[in-house]
Amino acid sequence: RFVLGIETSCDETGAAVLDDTGAILGESLHSQKQTHLDAGGIIPPVAQQLHRENISRVVQEALDRSGIEPSELTAVATTVKPGLALSLGIGLDFSRKFVRLHEKPFIPIHHMEAHALTVRMLHPVDFPFLVLLVSGGHSLLALAKGIDEFLLLGQTLDAAAGDTLDKIARRLSLRNHPECSSLSGGQAIELLAKEGDRLAFHFKSPMGQLYDCNFSFAGLRNQVTLAISKKEREEGVEKGQLLSCVKDIAAALQHTVASHIAKRTHRAILFCKSKGLLPQHNPTLVVSGGVASNEYIRQTLKIVTDATGLHLLCPPSKFCTDNGVMIAWNGIERLKQGKGIMSHSEEVNYEPKHYFRS
Ligand code: ATP
Ligand code: MG
Ligand code: FE
Repeated sequence: RFVLGIETSCDETGAAVLDDTGAILGESLHSQKQTHLDAGGIIPPVAQQLHRENISRVVQEALDRSGIEPSELTAVATTVKPGLALSLGIGLDFSRKFVRLHEKPFIPIHHMEAHALTVRMLHPVDFPFLVLLVSGGHSLLALAKGIDEFLLLGQTLDAAAGDTLDKIARRLSLRNHPECSSLSGGQAIELLAKEGDRLAFHFKSPMGQLYDCNFSFAGLRNQVTLAISKKEREEGVEKGQLLSCVKDIAAALQHTVASHIAKRTHRAILFCKSKGLLPQHNPTLVVSGGVASNEYIRQTLKIVTDATGLHLLCPPSKFCTDNGVMIAWNGIERLKQGKGIMSHSEEVNYEPKHYFRS
């Protein structure tokens, strides 16, 4: 069995062909990262236009590299939720035309479920397992109970972790920093933090008094922005021109983000244990999303999983960020269980805002 997976929910146009062992036969990815970095954020019609310009080529490349003809495909899987409406629409329109032309079954995919399940392509992880997804658009903790069964334990009440790092990086003009010009905000902060003193600034960890598993990053962003403005005034430099303590700010910020994520994850682990929701044998925490490629955050999470006896699994960075492979893999998982497979003639809509139930 061969599945073509197509991803266009946000700012990457991705496609991949996988077989049912999870072998990647061919893949292609076009990232819009640089365009959005230059613009200072994602402008949805721009993202839509870039998906439109690239989707045929990306899908064709994935197919060519795989050596699989459209007629040999078992099904086509495409992200339909959640994401930017304009971006989702391009992938869905393309896929609907493709499956009608080649008369192939269509499998609509939930982007966050795909992030959560990618790990099973690489390691034999059984359900249920705990999953932490921290990316540019999401921060959430959920219990994965089956390929289409997720219990939401907590999510961000305001901004996502990655978005917060990106906005602070922009406030610090890190793009003008010689070593950071082509890095995302989160990558730039990780790099600079290595040489910074995290104790030079103190940012309060969010939600200290709230005993749930939700996240909040807006207050932290505010604290950091105030500290930056204060330093700029003290040093008499223009907005965004701070040089002296940028590395210290990066280190203190990264530490606070890591500590907030680790504390909420710890609560989720304790909750699941107290309710008997995790297996006795080899209980696992899976971490994914772009922010999960941060080494400092991974190490902080390792402290939590070691202390609670959980096994920590973080897929390699390339599988943590958006791509067609994870969509194709979710399609394979659904094919194996015969779940959510539609005929090429059935009507499907995208759903920009669709999350897990809590
Ligand atoms: P979503 O998957 O929620 O729709 P997205 O496509 O923006 O959103 P990803 O592509 O998974 O998310 O990840 C991008 C985010 O990860 C950015 O916010 C970026 O700053 C952050 N990020 C990437 N690398 C690192 C790193 N090393 N440390 C911290 N954050 C990082
Ligand atoms: Mg992305
Ligand atoms: Fe994503």
